[in-house]
Amino acid sequence: MEKGIVVSKKYWEFDYGREHPVRTFRIKLAFDLMKDFGVTYNVVEPEKATREELLIFHTPEYLKALEEERVEPSMGLGNQDNPVIPGLFDFCCLVAGGTLKATKLAVSGGMFFNPGGGMHHAKRDKASGFCYINDIVIALKEAIKSGKKRIVYLDFDAHHCDVIQESFYSSSDVMVISLHQEDAFPQTGKVSELGEEKGYGYNINIPLPRYSEDEDILYIFEKLIIPVIKAYEPEMLFIQAGVDGHKDDPLTALYLTTGIYEKIAELIKPLLPPSVVITGGGGYDMINVARIWTLFWAKLTGKEIEDVLPPWFLRIAIMEGYEGPGIRDIPNWSGRKDTIKKQIKERVSFLRENLPFF
Ligand SMILES: [Zn+2]
Repeated sequence: MEKGIVVSKKYWEFDYGREHPVRTFRIKLAFDLMKDFGVTYNVVEPEKATREELLIFHTPEYLKALEEERVEPSMGLGNQDNPVIPGLFDFCCLVAGGTLKATKLAVSGGMFFNPGGGMHHAKRDKASGFCYINDIVIALKEAIKSGKKRIVYLDFDAHHCDVIQESFYSSSDVMVISLHQEDAFPQTGKVSELGEEKGYGYNINIPLPRYSEDEDILYIFEKLIIPVIKAYEPEMLFIQAGVDGHKDDPLTALYLTTGIYEKIAELIKPLLPPSVVITGGGGYDMINVARIWTLFWAKLTGKEIEDVLPPWFLRIAIMEGYEGPGIRDIPNWSGRKDTIKKQIKERVSFLRENLPFF
């Protein structure tokens, strides 16, 4: 299978500003760490998405405001979450173009990872949750246009993929599967939201209680997500690999370790369809983002990684408060927290009873 990373140094030359939680330097760290472990394969330079491509999802009025880098409160532009910064439009177009590039390459067979992508909160006429252009909706529409059937979109970012759900809620073109912290931004994504009309059964939400940990996620994958993907036999798989569910992420309250991200990759690997697109997503501790994306991508592409860190990375990690010495966290399988387990079990049972794939 052809595989590679879609990335540009322009991703990290753009800066959201010192007050903002998103640090684009995490992409450079992740890319350099992957390079060090020999898992970058083909490195592909993205091209900016064209106006026509952006219009597949966004309104002309919104694009105009974004292009003019205008503060426009009604469009979510220029607030604390979504600052308007010189170079913003070009950056957004390049990131969206990156996910489109990954998609076009994957459509003809392959697996491509755009770590700059994954802007699942951007609305058609409004910036939201650090996201301005919804590279994912645009790319999914491209995949549908190219004739792909049975597309699965899997999103394990700690935040619900509200706009992806909305965009395909009454359609069977994309099966949307999301795990997310139940009380986090944007406060959407209930277990009872199963889709409507032709889309009924094609929207799967597994909200996670605070402090859910690795074994809870493993349970959900083993009992629900893996059987669904197996039964559905997708032609194409998109994964939004936000890693803000990590236990040390500053914005969320989940309790995951590197172990579960490797486990997810291991479980999905035998089910991979011929076309796979991975995007980045949340993750607000740079060191954790780099470690997890490297481990996840390596496992998915069948490369075993030793539990070490190169000295250059370890130096930066120590400055950021991570002491290593390995790339992996200490395993965290406590077997405690019974209320969380009970809630998750109920949600999984509800879905198994109500989804047409069981
Ligand atoms: Zn997130």
